[in-house]
Amino acid sequence: MQDTQDAHFVDFRDVWLAYNDELLAQNHFAVEAIDLKVREGEFIAIVGPSGCGKSTFMKLTTGLKMPSKGRIMIDGQPVTGPLKISGMAFQAPSLLPWRTTVDNVLLPLEIVEPFRSQFKSKRKEFEERARKLLQKVGLGGYEDKFPWQLSGGMQQRVSICRALIHEPKMLLLDEPFGALDALTRGTIQDELLAIVRETHQTVFMITHDVDEAVLLADKILLMSNGPQARVAEIVRNTMPRDRQRATVHHDPQYYPLRNHLVDFLVARSKDLSHGKAPAHPPTVEPGRGALADAPASVTLKAVA
Ligand code: ADP
Repeated sequence: MQDTQDAHFVDFRDVWLAYNDELLAQNHFAVEAIDLKVREGEFIAIVGPSGCGKSTFMKLTTGLKMPSKGRIMIDGQPVTGPLKISGMAFQAPSLLPWRTTVDNVLLPLEIVEPFRSQFKSKRKEFEERARKLLQKVGLGGYEDKFPWQLSGGMQQRVSICRALIHEPKMLLLDEPFGALDALTRGTIQDELLAIVRETHQTVFMITHDVDEAVLLADKILLMSNGPQARVAEIVRNTMPRDRQRATVHHDPQYYPLRNHLVDFLVARSKDLSHGKAPAHPPTVEPGRGALADAPASVTLKAVA
C-alpha cells in the first residue's frame, strides 16, 4: 500500500496531553508533540520505560482522553469521544465470574450500539460468532465453562475474543500477554497474528517484551522517558511479514532489530526525557544493514 495522505487510518497531529488544568498551566505534559500516521491494517507495538506515557497514548487513541493541544483523526473522523470502532484487552483478563465463557465474550454486544438494540433478536447469530472465535483460539469445548474453570492463558484468550467480538477496525492491547508463561504467550501470539492477518485490523499493542515486538509488529514506537515523553523513534520492521515465531531468530535482520530496541530501553530513552526527543521522530530500519551485509544465499532466503 502506498504511504499517501489518504491511506492514513490513524493520524496524530502535534498531540499534547496534560492530565488537568493545573498541569497544563505549568506546561507539564504526560505526552507531547506526537505526530504519527498509521495505515489501516498495520500492527504497531509501543515500547518504552514505565511512566513514559504508553497508557496515555492508548487513552488518546480510543478517545477516552482528549488532547490538550493538537488533533487526532481516526478512520477519517476527528476523535471527539470514546470510539466504538475499537476493541481492548489488558494484562488482567477481567472476566465476569458469574458469566460463562461465551457470555463473557458476548458482553460488548450487549453494551455497544448498534448491537445492543439488536441483541435479543440476533442473539443466536451473535452466539455463533462468539463460538467460532473461541474455536479459533483453541477454546472449543470450554464455551460453557466459568472463568474459575479456565487457566490464566485460557482466560486471556477469552478476553481477546471479547475484544474482537464486535469486529472492531482497531484493536488496542495493553500488555495482554504480560502475565503469561513463555509457552502460553507464544501460542497466543501466533493465534492473534493469524486472526489479525485475516481481519486486517489495525493493532496497537503495548509491550515490554522486545521479542514480542519484533515478532508481531510492522512498526515499533520507541517512547522516551517521561515526563514530557515523546515518540522518540519509529522502528520499521523490515523482516518478511509472514515471519514465524519458530524461525524468526534465524533471519539476519532479527538481532540488529532486537539489539536496537534493547539499546534504546537501557541507554538512549533516558537521554531523551523532558522533551529532548526530536519533534518529528525519525523512522529507522536497523535490520536493513544486516540484510546488505549477509551472504547472498541468506539474503535471498530472508527476502523470499
Ligand atoms: P505508562 O503506561 O508508560 O507506564 P502512563 O501513560 O500511565 O505511563 O503515565 C504517563 C505519565 O502520566 C506519568 O508521569 C503518570 O504519572 C502521568 N499520569 C497518568 N495518569 C494520570 C492521571 N490520571 N492524572 C495525572 N497524571 C497521570
